[in-house]
Amino acid sequence: MKVTFPHMGYLYVCVKGLLEYLDIEVILPPPTSKRTLTLGTKYGPEFACMPLKLNLGNMIEASELGADTLIMIGGCGPCRFGYYAQVEYAILKDLGYHYNMVVLEPPDKHISELTTRIRKITGNKSWVQVIKAIRFAYQKSRAVDEVELMSFKIRPRELVLGETDRALAKAIKEIDNAASPQQLQLALLRSKDIMNSVAIDPNRPVIKIALIGEIYTLLDPFSNLNIERHLGRLGVEVDRSIYLSEWINDHLFMGLLKGIRSTKEYCQSAAPFLNHFVGGHGLETIGSVSVYAKRGYHGAIQLFPFTCMPEIVAQSILPKVGDALAMPVMTLIVDEHSGEAGMITRLEAFVDLLTRKREFKAN
Ligand code: SF4
Repeated sequence: MKVTFPHMGYLYVCVKGLLEYLDIEVILPPPTSKRTLTLGTKYGPEFACMPLKLNLGNMIEASELGADTLIMIGGCGPCRFGYYAQVEYAILKDLGYHYNMVVLEPPDKHISELTTRIRKITGNKSWVQVIKAIRFAYQKSRAVDEVELMSFKIRPRELVLGETDRALAKAIKEIDNAASPQQLQLALLRSKDIMNSVAIDPNRPVIKIALIGEIYTLLDPFSNLNIERHLGRLGVEVDRSIYLSEWINDHLFMGLLKGIRSTKEYCQSAAPFLNHFVGGHGLETIGSVSVYAKRGYHGAIQLFPFTCMPEIVAQSILPKVGDALAMPVMTLIVDEHSGEAGMITRLEAFVDLLTRKREFKAN
């Protein structure tokens, strides 16, 4: 059995860690590229949102490398994600890619529906081993988030352009290579040293922008056109409203781990602008604006893929929220036609606006 799964930013570090901990052979799709998107766009439904197209491209490319078993997340709710796995499976089958697909989703009737599916991948490994593997994978996701958070603070203050990106790539590799919890502890220390070795100007004034919106676009640098890097180079310290480890704790561990930031805070802050779930992270997008305004952020950028229903709902409400909280909010919608140059121009204009606003306030 050669198992694969689609990319979503650094998700691969965590899932690969989990599977390899259980001695399961993993075939990682090549890093998402223009080819991935071209494949997904060619074979995916035209009006599907971009994550489906990129997932499809990843699956085709992984199959070309010999993967035969595919893990996909399912779900239910107003957004289309819940039936992506089935749509992707049907498309792949029509194209002649024969995968065993294991869809992990909340069970309809009994927990045994889920455990049976997990067993398809883990075979006869004991549940104790599976739980240890999940814990290890979670620790990896925490480690990745920690170094990413460091990069957000370091990048706008770096003295040599691009140094933070190089350090981050090395740090992630250290975490990815760790094969046991003990190795991971040392890898995290080394990763932090690597990040701290980047020369910075700690006194450089920076603009603070929150990146909010749809989870895939927020976590995946290919689909968000490396927005964090571009903002960093414009002297902006960013924060993301969603991190992978927080999402895992909120949704898979049901908030069991205490002391970890939770998106629940955003949901609670969405009223009076939006008072109910609209699918995806639409509610969180609205609530996060007021949370970041209180934290002293200068502005927010909403990111989502073209045709994403929950974020379209949020987008229509955001101008009101921004006005009420005196927080400028810009929306960026991405699809297969988006280009980095156009986005950088819009980012420059937004950062310019925020800088002038800050200077105006200071005087
Ligand atoms: S949240 Fe939006 S982009 Fe994500 S699957 Fe749902 S509709 Fe598509």
